[in-house]
Amino acid sequence: MKKQARFVLLIPLLGALASAQSKSNSKPQTPSAVNPEQRITGFTAANSAKQIEIETKFKAVPSPEQAQKWHRRLTAEPHPSGSERNNLLAREIADTWKMQGMEDVVIHEYDVLQSTPREVSLEMISPKSYRAQLREEAYAVDPDTKNPRVKSAYTSMSASGEVTAPIVYAFSGNPEDYELLRKNGIDVRGKVVLVRYSNPYSYRGFKALTAQRLGAAAIIIYSDPQEDGYQRGKVFPDGPWGPESHIQRGAITYDFIVPGDPLTPGWASVPGAKQIPIAEAESMPKIMAMPLSWHDAKPLLENMGGPIAPKKWQGGLPIKYRMGGNATVHVKIDMDNSVKPNYVVEARVRGAELPDEWVVLGNHRDAWEFGGVDPSSGTASMLEVTRALGELGKQGIRPRRTIVVCSWDGEEVGLTGSTEWGEQFGDELKKKMVAYVNVDSSTSGPDFEVTAVASLSPMLVELSKSLNDPSGKTLYEAWKATALGKRREKSKQAAISDADLVDTQIGSGSDHTVFLNHLGRPTVGLTFDGPYGVYHSMYDDHFWVSHFGDPGFKYHTLMAQYWGVLGLRLANADVLPFDFESYARSLRKFVMEVEAKKGAAAHVEFKPLLAAVDRFEVEGRQLNVAADRALKASDVVPGKLQNANAGIMQVESNWLNPDGIPGRPWFKHALYAARYTYAHLELPGLTEAVEKADWTTARQQARILQDAVEKNNLLLRQVRAELQKQK
Ligand SMILES: [Zn+2]
Repeated sequence: MKKQARFVLLIPLLGALASAQSKSNSKPQTPSAVNPEQRITGFTAANSAKQIEIETKFKAVPSPEQAQKWHRRLTAEPHPSGSERNNLLAREIADTWKMQGMEDVVIHEYDVLQSTPREVSLEMISPKSYRAQLREEAYAVDPDTKNPRVKSAYTSMSASGEVTAPIVYAFSGNPEDYELLRKNGIDVRGKVVLVRYSNPYSYRGFKALTAQRLGAAAIIIYSDPQEDGYQRGKVFPDGPWGPESHIQRGAITYDFIVPGDPLTPGWASVPGAKQIPIAEAESMPKIMAMPLSWHDAKPLLENMGGPIAPKKWQGGLPIKYRMGGNATVHVKIDMDNSVKPNYVVEARVRGAELPDEWVVLGNHRDAWEFGGVDPSSGTASMLEVTRALGELGKQGIRPRRTIVVCSWDGEEVGLTGSTEWGEQFGDELKKKMVAYVNVDSSTSGPDFEVTAVASLSPMLVELSKSLNDPSGKTLYEAWKATALGKRREKSKQAAISDADLVDTQIGSGSDHTVFLNHLGRPTVGLTFDGPYGVYHSMYDDHFWVSHFGDPGFKYHTLMAQYWGVLGLRLANADVLPFDFESYARSLRKFVMEVEAKKGAAAHVEFKPLLAAVDRFEVEGRQLNVAADRALKASDVVPGKLQNANAGIMQVESNWLNPDGIPGRPWFKHALYAARYTYAHLELPGLTEAVEKADWTTARQQARILQDAVEKNNLLLRQVRAELQKQK
C-alpha cells in the first residue's frame, strides 16, 4: 500500500516514544506472593509459582512516564473515525506493535457508512432572534482548545434537512416525557424537540428514535449543568465538570437494533461486500439531530413559554423551565453520509502450546475530538500492555495460548470496527476465543469498575488482590471500599461481598457487544471511573486527563498491569478459571427479577427453569471441586486438560439462540442483550415478552432458557468427568 512509504517515515513518531529508560518507577507492585499451598485459580502449584514470576516481570514494565507519552501523542489532534488523523494513528499503532515485538501485525479495512457535517445551523426566529454559536470556547491554559481542526456541533448519522417550526422542551426525551406533553395538549408532530442528556446515562440514539416515531421534525440534545456542569462541581479548566460551551458530540445510529455498519447488517463490510440501500437500513435514523451546549440552549429555554414544566424537569439553569409552544426556530442540517474506509489494527503473541486458543484484548482508537479519556486513555494503557508483552518476549517468555490485541475504529459511530471484525471472523472466534477483555476509557478517575459474565467474577476479584492501588491499598481493598461507599450512598446499612464487586448486568455501548451478544463469547469490561463532565467534548483532552482524570498517569499504568495480567492468566491457566457456580447465582437473580414482574408468575411457569438453574449451581460447584483436585494431583499434565478446557469454552456458546431475540435477530445471546437506551437487559427474549404481556412468547422464551441451562448442566458433567480422569 502506497501509504507504506509514509509509513516508514512515521516509525520515529509514536514508536520512538518508547525510550529505554521507561521502566516502571512508580512504587513497584509487590510480587504477588502466593504461598505454595495457595494456588492461582486454574493453575497447579508449580505453575502458579511460574505465573507469579511472569506477572512480576510483566508488572515491572508499564510506567506512568511512558503512558503519559503515548497519551500526549495519541491526543495531539482530533481523530474521529474516517479522518486522516485516525488512519495515521492506525498506521502508527501497527508500526509500534512491530517495534515492540508483537507478531502478525495487520490492518483490516472495512468500507462503512460515515457521517460528517457539511453544514449545521440553528437560530431562534421568534420571540427573539438568536443564532446558536455551536462552538466551544478556547482557554489559554489549554492550547489544545485553540486547535482549528476541532469541529463545531454535529450529531453523527443525523438526517439532512431544513425546518422552521415551534420548539418544545421534552425533558429527557423518553416516551413518558412525550406522554406528559400530550397530556398538556402539546403534540410534537412537525415540531423541533429540545431534550437533555440524562443522568443516569441513556443512549442519545433512543432519544432520536423516540422523537422520530412521534413525528418530530428535528431533535436537539443539550447538556444541562445539572447533569455534567457547574451543579456537579468545578468546571473546566478549573475542575472536571463541563463548562458553559461544552458540547457532547456523538452518533445516534440505532445500533441497539443491529450494531455495526448500517449498510451491511449482520455481515462484514469488507471491501466489495454487498451493501443495502441506506433507505432500507434499520439502524439509520430518519430524523435531523444536533447537540447543543447550555450556553446555546439557555436562550431557547428562556423564551419558549408554555406551561411550566414539572419539578423533575427543572434543571440547573437559573430559569423557570417551560414546555414550550411560544418560540420558533430554524434548523438546517446538511450531512455527508457516505462510505469511507475504517481500519482495525490487529497483532498477536502466538501461543507456545495452544496457538488456536485466543485471549483477545481490545480498545477503540477513534474519538470525537482529542479523546483524552474516551478512548485514548485506553489506547495509552494498551500500548503499555503490548510494550510489556514485547519485553517478556525478549526474555523468551511466551504465553501458552495466543494473546490477540485489537485497535478498533468506528466505535463511536456504531460499534463498527469491532462488529465488522467479529462478523468477518465469527466462525473462527466462536471456536477459538477464550474471552474478550475490553477497555474503552481506561481512566477518568480512581474508582475501579468491572463488568463481566459472572463465570469470570471470582478470578477477576482474585487478581485484584495481587496489585497495589496508588492509594497504597491493594487494588482489591480500594475497589471494595469504593463499591461499599457507592452502596452506602443509597442505603447506610449496605454491606458488600466479593461476589458483588463485578457487575454482571452488562449493557451495550462499547466493543464487547459483538463478542457477547452475537458470538456468545465471555467478555470483561474494565475502567477506572471518576467525576467526568466533558464526555465527547473538545475538553476531553490531555490537559483534562493530566489535571483531573489521572494526574501522574498512575491509573493508566495500573490498568495496563491489571489488563495484561488478566490476559496472561487466561492465556496460561491449566484449567480455564471459569466459575459456573458463580454464573448460576447470577442467573438465578436474573430469573427471579423477571418472575417478580407484573403478571409474570401468573402466566409463566418459572419452577422448571429455576430447578435447572439449581442443578447448574450444583454442577458448577462440583466442577470447581474437580478442577481443584485435578490441579492438586501430583502427576497433572496440563496438556491432558484440553478436553476439559474445550468444554469450559463451550458453555458461553450454549447460551446462543440461533433465531436471536424476538424482533432483534442479531442479538443471539439468550442471557444478555441491551435495551434501546444501552442499559443492561438480562434474559432479553423473556423479559421483553413479559414487559409486553406477550405470554405466548414469554413461555417459549422460558423454555429456550431452560433448554440452554440443561444443555450446560450436561456439559459441565462431561467436563467434570474429564477432570476426574486426572486422579
Ligand atoms: Zn469510547
